[in-house]
Amino acid sequence: MADVQVHDKVFTPFITAGSIQARVAELGQAIDRDYAGKKPLLIGVLNGSVIFMADLLRHIGTACEIGFIRVSSYHGTESSGKVRNLMGLSDDIAGRDIIIVEDIIDTGDTAVYLIDELKKRQPASLRFATILFKPSALRQDVKPDYVGFEIPPAFVVGYGLDYDGLGRNLPDIYQLKS
Ligand code: 5GP
Repeated sequence: MADVQVHDKVFTPFITAGSIQARVAELGQAIDRDYAGKKPLLIGVLNGSVIFMADLLRHIGTACEIGFIRVSSYHGTESSGKVRNLMGLSDDIAGRDIIIVEDIIDTGDTAVYLIDELKKRQPASLRFATILFKPSALRQDVKPDYVGFEIPPAFVVGYGLDYDGLGRNLPDIYQLKS
């Protein structure tokens, strides 16, 4: 497989589409086992999760529903730093079995924010699925329940993940070339 250029940077092949598909199939089977007899609501985090969500869904046999949310963030003037805003979440998650579907957990800040916000709406249960997880970059106490691949802390694109808006449509995952 060849390197790809996205904007000004060169990325090198890292995880093939075939390996991703095989792993997503396993995650779907695990979800089927864990949610037998239930009707989970998968909530994807836009934009990065769309490809993973679409693939994961096709490997889940259990009846399930989907929805999408978006986290917008900006740097406030307060010393607290980042201010986040959650969009698209309806209130009807109370009593539901929720699985948050993300593209990647890096520091874990977004994951912790999402978990806190969704817990306020009192779901029956809340789990976290992510296709990529960078454990060495983690600075929050969060442990995703369904992980595609644990990866080193290099910047990646493809399979829904972008570099400045581009690269999401690459079927394989690529790592920034050093
Ligand atoms: P966290 O809050 O865990 O630090 O970061 C989560 C978000 O940062 C992800 O949803 C994603 O948008 C972005 N991110 C973190 N690492 C990467 C990476 O290697 N590649 C891309 N494309 N985005 C990343």
